[in-house]
Amino acid sequence: MNRYPRLLVSREKIRENAFRVVRRCAEGGIAVAGVVKGVCAYPPVVRSFIEGGCRELADSRMANIAALRKMKTGLPLLLLRIPMLSELPLVAELADCSLVSMAPTVNLLEKECEFLGSTMEVIVMFDLGDLREGLCLNEAEEMAETLRASPRVRCRGVGVNFGCWGGTLPTAEKLLTLLSAGREMERALGYPLTVFSGGSTSSLLLLEKQEIPEGINHLRIGEAILLGEDVTSIRSIPWLHQNTMVLEAEVVEVRRKPSVPAEPRGADAFGGQPRFPDRGRRLRAILGVGRQDVKIEGLVPEAEGALILGGSSDHMILDAEDVSPPPALGDILRFRPDYGALLALSTSPYAAFKMV
Ligand SMILES: *Cc1c(COP(=O)(O)O)cnc(C)c1O
Repeated sequence: MNRYPRLLVSREKIRENAFRVVRRCAEGGIAVAGVVKGVCAYPPVVRSFIEGGCRELADSRMANIAALRKMKTGLPLLLLRIPMLSELPLVAELADCSLVSMAPTVNLLEKECEFLGSTMEVIVMFDLGDLREGLCLNEAEEMAETLRASPRVRCRGVGVNFGCWGGTLPTAEKLLTLLSAGREMERALGYPLTVFSGGSTSSLLLLEKQEIPEGINHLRIGEAILLGEDVTSIRSIPWLHQNTMVLEAEVVEVRRKPSVPAEPRGADAFGGQPRFPDRGRRLRAILGVGRQDVKIEGLVPEAEGALILGGSSDHMILDAEDVSPPPALGDILRFRPDYGALLALSTSPYAAFKMV
């Protein structure tokens, strides 16, 4: 028995995307950390990343880092989210390297490493305008001081985020700023850094234009490999596969109904007050997939003429008037997920994954 909704993932296309990203970055002197949070570090997909040539694996969640550790890939594991103090024992035990932005975190990480008799690495994040995590440029000295006092925590390098909160795009100028912040850290630390991490998928456009400054030698790439998309730059990446995965969902009702709900009207199940253009009576399909499974706005139907009208926690409503042949009860319809939809699917216990 097949269980729906389910996400079909192409092993081959993910592997090829990884291969192309790794090769293209290598030509620019850049190493790739393969970011697998989009699929919750699902092992078959992780293996495609490795077969494609990723030599470092990265995830934002300690639970996923722990799962990656269990896989015994032999590859270094990078924690992407600056750690919570409450998870530092796990970070010290399971991650090889973590992004950091707070000196006290480094202090406590040193204590955990002392306790374990181990060492670990960190990449110090700088905020160059996206306004999520990272030091301001004038704060390097304080961080360096803490690192100098933490012999078990080695600073592997510096890094920056773009397009995560503020939608700030990477530029050559900003990456030059990162390089000079790194040089200042080196002076303050008294040892050379090995990693200058210039962002994520959104930095690939600069790479294509050969605008990444010499010295940037590391990118953290998830979306490009998983979906061939770059949501921040609002483009599909022309040298990668886009059709890497497809969501299958099952039709549970087909009926012709009015396009405007009856009066009087309050809010919908999520407190929203959607507007309904009157298009007359339309054929509608209801699918057995909802907001508990996926971000409905992040789906594009494959069937020509199909229009997603919205959904509730367990149902998706599709205008199917212009779909031919019209969908029938029990039909399986296919949708392409964006990164947000993929994140939701991979964290929903109701959605199944299947490699094809
Ligand atoms: C998710 C994440 C990435 C990867 O971003 P993509 O857009 O998937 O390439 C890189 N760095 C950090 C800190 C992240 O959280």
